[in-house]
Amino acid sequence: MAVEKIHVVEHRMAGLFPVVNSFIAEGDDLVLIDTGLNDGSARNIIKKLGSLDHKLADVDVCVLTHAHRDHVGGLKALKERGEPFLVAAHDAEAEDVEKATGIEVDLRLEDDQMIGGFTIVYLPGHTLGSIALLGGGALIAGDTLNGGGTGLKGPNPMFSKDRDAAEASVRHLANFDFDRVLVGHGSGVESGGKEALAKLIAEMGPD
Ligand SMILES: [Zn+2]
Repeated sequence: MAVEKIHVVEHRMAGLFPVVNSFIAEGDDLVLIDTGLNDGSARNIIKKLGSLDHKLADVDVCVLTHAHRDHVGGLKALKERGEPFLVAAHDAEAEDVEKATGIEVDLRLEDDQMIGGFTIVYLPGHTLGSIALLGGGALIAGDTLNGGGTGLKGPNPMFSKDRDAAEASVRHLANFDFDRVLVGHGSGVESGGKEALAKLIAEMGPD
């Protein structure tokens, strides 16, 4: 059930500015994490799958880190291709995903559940059902962390539902082991992720 390799799919606004990331994880299962902004993001994901010698039909499951439009916006167009991949989101987020996309969530996830070789970490705050995925030495943090130059930043307070909970979720991530950190917006860190997180938590000050 191991995750072997995680690829970043960068979605750009008007083909120019990188706006949000999706991820394709290869291993025993082929896992898509988040779907970008819109129909163009869906095409972008299919193109990236092709460049990795996969097809959409090979995808086992699409895990959504949270229901914000820029993370679930490509889901409908992907599902309309008629391929049988499952859609997974945290139990507390599933209804919002369904409302935002019109697509049914097949798997309602809980904290610590295994899916597609990843362990789910429940991180309420940015949204009430936000999650991260841990696997293959990486943390896929959704919008609970952001890229910040060479390091990491916390969740954007402007777009976060419950700021205190979001901050507690950042601190909670210190309980896990990972080297690479992948985030929804920006570049994350390729290695030294634990240290980058510790630095961010130190900057946040005492809770
Ligand atoms: Zn978000």
